[in-house]
Amino acid sequence: MTNKIYEYKDDQDWYVGVWDVYGGIYSLIKDPLDLEFMDLARIFRDEENGFPITITVMRWSSNFRLLSFIVEILNAEAGRNLEVIQRQGALLLVENGQLLHVELPKEGVDVEAFFETSKVRETLLIATRNEGKTKEFRAIFDKLGYDVENLNDYPDLPEVAETGMTFEENARLKAETISKLTGKMVLADDSGLKVDVLGGLPGVWSARFAGVGATDQENNAKLLHELAMVFELKDRSAQFHTTLVVASPGKESLVVEADWPGYINFEPKGENGFGYDPLFLVGETGKSSAELTLEEKNSQSHRALAVKKLLEVFPSWQSKPSL
Ligand code: IMP
Repeated sequence: MTNKIYEYKDDQDWYVGVWDVYGGIYSLIKDPLDLEFMDLARIFRDEENGFPITITVMRWSSNFRLLSFIVEILNAEAGRNLEVIQRQGALLLVENGQLLHVELPKEGVDVEAFFETSKVRETLLIATRNEGKTKEFRAIFDKLGYDVENLNDYPDLPEVAETGMTFEENARLKAETISKLTGKMVLADDSGLKVDVLGGLPGVWSARFAGVGATDQENNAKLLHELAMVFELKDRSAQFHTTLVVASPGKESLVVEADWPGYINFEPKGENGFGYDPLFLVGETGKSSAELTLEEKNSQSHRALAVKKLLEVFPSWQSKPSL
């Protein structure tokens, strides 16, 4: 047992917890918490200590988040190996392959969909053939109870052309088309560079700014050429942008987006990264994103920010029933 104070905080949920004797869940918010699942407490209760955690809830939007928080403390303090899994809007509490409890939403779940597969974990298909991108998403979604696949697992699927005029249109096109074709939950992303003085270009054309099949060097040279008459750095403001879309059959898609602000330098510098990284000066640092280590970039980039936002809203979106 430790005296550690645990905290989970994002825009929608905020909890503080300590391991305690005869604890409980206390809410500082007006709206009553949907805490019916606390009959679950009997699983966590022990003879000597009762419900052994005290949790204060400052903000609440998701039972998945709250239960995951409780489980995190129990695993750390009591050596349990509990896992919370979302399935068709229900919450499953699993330990060492044993299903301990199922918490159903008020409106119930679709029986056929619930039992459609013998696998407890659901699958999330990432609409990419890039194994690097898949690895990043797998690390995140594995913790949420998802098996992550990518398009290399579906060699017969057609290429979805990125014909949209916005990042959201392109990401939706990929996620929703592939979800319809496979019946799976699909995550797609679309990213690019927006330069203010160019009215947001290269935007969705970032990969092909200098023409279809252009190299990174050709795209960078084209960008410097377009900005040749913009002499002040302050006028060369830009953002790297990412839109993420998750589509699932019979469900309104979930969309999140994020920007990473900076400026376009007058010449390339730095050896790391890809695409426009050598030209993109991060915020007010004067450093190009190609001068950041991979870890530095991955902790602050447009993709990192978008994934962080996605994780905040995904559990409550996933627990909404299908249309
Ligand atoms: P995608 O949608 O992630 O494939 O990105 C499309 C294009 O945007 C890439 O080919 C790059 O030219 C540019 N881009 C997106 N993200 C980055 C980044 O993090 N650094 C540099 N260029 C990027």
